[in-house]
Amino acid sequence: MTISMRSLPGRRPFLTAALAIVALAGLVAGAITAEPRAKDLFGAKKLPAVAAAQSFGFYSKGCFTGGVAIPMDGQNWEVMRPSRNRRWGHPTMIALIEKLSRDAAADGWPGLLIGDISQPRGGPMLTGHASHQIGLDADIWLTPMPDRKLTTQERENISATLMVDDKTHLVKDRLWKPMHTQLLKRAASYPEVERILVNPGIKKKLCDTVTGDRSWLRKIRPFWGHDYHFHIRIGCQPGSPNCKGQEATPDDDGCGKPLAWWFTEEPWRPNKNPDAPKARDVMTMANLPKQCQFVLDQPDADSVEAVTYRGGGVPIAARAPEPDAPLPPINGNAAGLPSAANAFTATPEIGIPLPRRRPPANVGQ
Ligand SMILES: [Zn+2]
Repeated sequence: MTISMRSLPGRRPFLTAALAIVALAGLVAGAITAEPRAKDLFGAKKLPAVAAAQSFGFYSKGCFTGGVAIPMDGQNWEVMRPSRNRRWGHPTMIALIEKLSRDAAADGWPGLLIGDISQPRGGPMLTGHASHQIGLDADIWLTPMPDRKLTTQERENISATLMVDDKTHLVKDRLWKPMHTQLLKRAASYPEVERILVNPGIKKKLCDTVTGDRSWLRKIRPFWGHDYHFHIRIGCQPGSPNCKGQEATPDDDGCGKPLAWWFTEEPWRPNKNPDAPKARDVMTMANLPKQCQFVLDQPDADSVEAVTYRGGGVPIAARAPEPDAPLPPINGNAAGLPSAANAFTATPEIGIPLPRRRPPANVGQ
């Protein structure tokens, strides 16, 4: 006892130093072994991976190569929230949005405001969505495009119109127009489109009002949110053997019992555990398909311009100053796609630039 009492003061500096070293070693080891979050790795990528277009994994757990950007503006669309850099998708998705923008304009819709598609290489996002990870999901606003070019500031800040009353979960009748129904019908008409997610109130509105052909209602699926935009989901595309598809929707119009459930209290009960982390916030590379590491490691495409879609419109980078400058020569139809392009044909290559490998650093510098 007396020995230890006497020896303690002398030992203290040694003990403190030893403890500090142990603590420091622990911290270093922790820093080395802590798995980076997949959303940080994918969220940091500014350009798509150099490879042919291919989706890996599932809509809410995956990534993709060969991403193409939709230009910020087209004849019939404007991209919203540009700072998020989520205007990337599988080439088929991007071509489909462009086609929808033209068809919808012909139907009388003033133009699309395009929300989030995917990050350049997909993967989990820093904020928002669980899905949109494999380049096959896109959000389109239910607010029509204004007849002028929005400034960057407006695209960041303008609020969308909420179409559904959050107490009754019913569509606000003064806002819903026949052209909204027509826009959803047009989007559902493409064979590539497997599902369109809308708020249950919007689904109900369609169930209650659509006459004649109701077969397309099968693709319109009620889901939480989706009250200012709708969400287009296309199927796995050819050339993506590791893409995991979703079960087909039931054959009926979905207006019966499953819809009635949304108008009970059950789906709207408060979340019992609101602070639980979301899947996208904790996913590491180990949670994603193994190919996603390869997708991350691939070199960047040359530039945004090199991988911006050049369909029916002039790419933003090559936008001619005079309005009626000739379009760049493209084969196929006006959209730059073979006219028979659909989910069952090969990924169209005409008009869609494939990413090219960046030249080595010592070339051309
Ligand atoms: Zn969405």
